[in-house]
Amino acid sequence: MRETPKENIILKGVPVSGGVALGEAQVLRDPSFQIVRRQIPAAAVQAEIARLDGARAHAVEELQSVKSKAVRAVGEQAAKVFEAQIMIASDEQFFQTVSERIIRERINAEYAYQEATAATLDRLMKAKDPYLRQMVHDIAAVSDRILSFLLGVGARAENGFANPTILVGRIFSPGQIMAYAKRNVVGFLTEEGGPTSHMALIIRSLGIPAIQGDFGIGEKIVAGMSLIIDGNSGEVIVNPDAETTRNYRRMRSRKLAQPFGVLLNAQAIAAVCRDGREISLAANLEIPGPVDEHLVRLGIGVGLFRTEFLYFNKQTFPDEEEQYQTYAAIARRFNPLPVTLRTFDLGGDKYAEEFGQVREDNPALGWRGIRVSLDAVRLFKTQLRAMLRATAEGNVRILLPMVSDVGEISETLEHLDKIKRELRRAGIPHNDGVAVGAMIEIPSAAMSADYLAQKVDFLSIGTNDLIQYTMAADRGNYRVSRYYIGHHPAVLHLIHMTVMAAHENGIAVTVCGEMAGTTLMAPFLVGLGVDELSMNPTRLPELAEWISRFRYADAKRFASRVLRLTTADKVMAALTEAYEYVEHLKQGDWRDEQP
Ligand code: PEP
Ligand code: MG
Repeated sequence: MRETPKENIILKGVPVSGGVALGEAQVLRDPSFQIVRRQIPAAAVQAEIARLDGARAHAVEELQSVKSKAVRAVGEQAAKVFEAQIMIASDEQFFQTVSERIIRERINAEYAYQEATAATLDRLMKAKDPYLRQMVHDIAAVSDRILSFLLGVGARAENGFANPTILVGRIFSPGQIMAYAKRNVVGFLTEEGGPTSHMALIIRSLGIPAIQGDFGIGEKIVAGMSLIIDGNSGEVIVNPDAETTRNYRRMRSRKLAQPFGVLLNAQAIAAVCRDGREISLAANLEIPGPVDEHLVRLGIGVGLFRTEFLYFNKQTFPDEEEQYQTYAAIARRFNPLPVTLRTFDLGGDKYAEEFGQVREDNPALGWRGIRVSLDAVRLFKTQLRAMLRATAEGNVRILLPMVSDVGEISETLEHLDKIKRELRRAGIPHNDGVAVGAMIEIPSAAMSADYLAQKVDFLSIGTNDLIQYTMAADRGNYRVSRYYIGHHPAVLHLIHMTVMAAHENGIAVTVCGEMAGTTLMAPFLVGLGVDELSMNPTRLPELAEWISRFRYADAKRFASRVLRLTTADKVMAALTEAYEYVEHLKQGDWRDEQP
């Protein structure tokens, strides 16, 4: 007799994106995780070989198409990566050996193929030659592609899920999230990817609940199970009974429990300290979003528009006209509120193959952000031109990601000047005086913020990256999450240096990393004199209310006291104490009186 599954098993994880979702579990591990050796009948051997050939043909076809798109977008240099991969996928001799093994051992294609690939990778990984090591990445990329065809999984599979689905896996790329969001996926459970990973940012911007944790995938959670996830508390309920399901359905239908609920119901949002100092609040957007009209209604502009998600949405680069239409539409919608368009920040955990990006050994320290743009000049100029044209439609500002040196700003400004001249000559309307800003998210940028501030019109501190680069702790790697310390004195000093440099040069400074949306850090950031906090829209109401509880004068004293603390623990103790005061301000009063 089959055992009835236990009901209402509660697992706990880290909340990544708020809201409640109910659905059926689908487990998506790396393709290799699902492969088991299967014996097949002699009569099925030829069909199995045909399946392998079919998957290989698909992969080659897909690679050809990606290659031509990349060449159009970036230029001939991008073709090289794909040529290498096409060659690997077309290696007759290799596939002949795999087919022979299928015949000899009468086994399934994916197992035979994966075994052969693993053996090759094993040999290459021991190689000292960097060329051979790069081949490891190329072979792995081809293998992923072929296996995902053989297994019928992956973002490339065409069909949506029949039932509302909660996708369970190790981690998902921004591209996969965008693809699955359109295919009946209502929630995500992941083993990796902390709350400031790009995966988390994009899930939040789509308003899909998500939790990260150790869920015992394949044991406690297997495909087909019924799940409830509560992204506010981090709770997962496996096999909920009828009553629990009813309760959560009710909770889900209550708007306030959903990620954008409070924002949609807000009457006004302003962050004014009790002594009158106002901090500008702005929203981070990844795609023209479900809450834009409410932001406009509440007078909130866009402090950061992550344009690279235009790419992830379609897995192909939008041309100038398409980009212009998107930028112009958002500029018009928010006009006269500012809209800060950040140029593509690809690379790192935002890998884009059409940029000709290869899997790098150390992607966070690799070809990322402005570095890619300055190398892929054609693509960069197309984007700058589209942005410049959109300046005629509203209050557009241009922001540059991953700046590490003043030279990158000078080079960009030269491109901009040239494009402005072209537009003038062609009589195309644009704002010649468009504000250009630099992201401060690398310690070298923070330490040269003074020089950068002399070249640009505003600075914007990206704490998500600034923390990872200062602490040498990957923002998406849960194994080092305890080293990813936003309140470390080193990080706070870099923020402070940046704010001072901006103000000494008479320009404004925004904080647009996730730190900007935390109540714990608010008194410190406000006290430093940060002009604007830009955050995920869901965080705006709480931050505005929180900032209105204290005085700027107290926050200023507090910030200078915190800057003298020598360890992260001491800073945390001070932040917690301030938090507790502010939390109880309804009855009492927070006065930071310590010298
Ligand atoms: C940051 O690094 O803080 C930032 C805002 O940029 P992103 O999260 O897109 O890397
Ligand atoms: Mg960043």
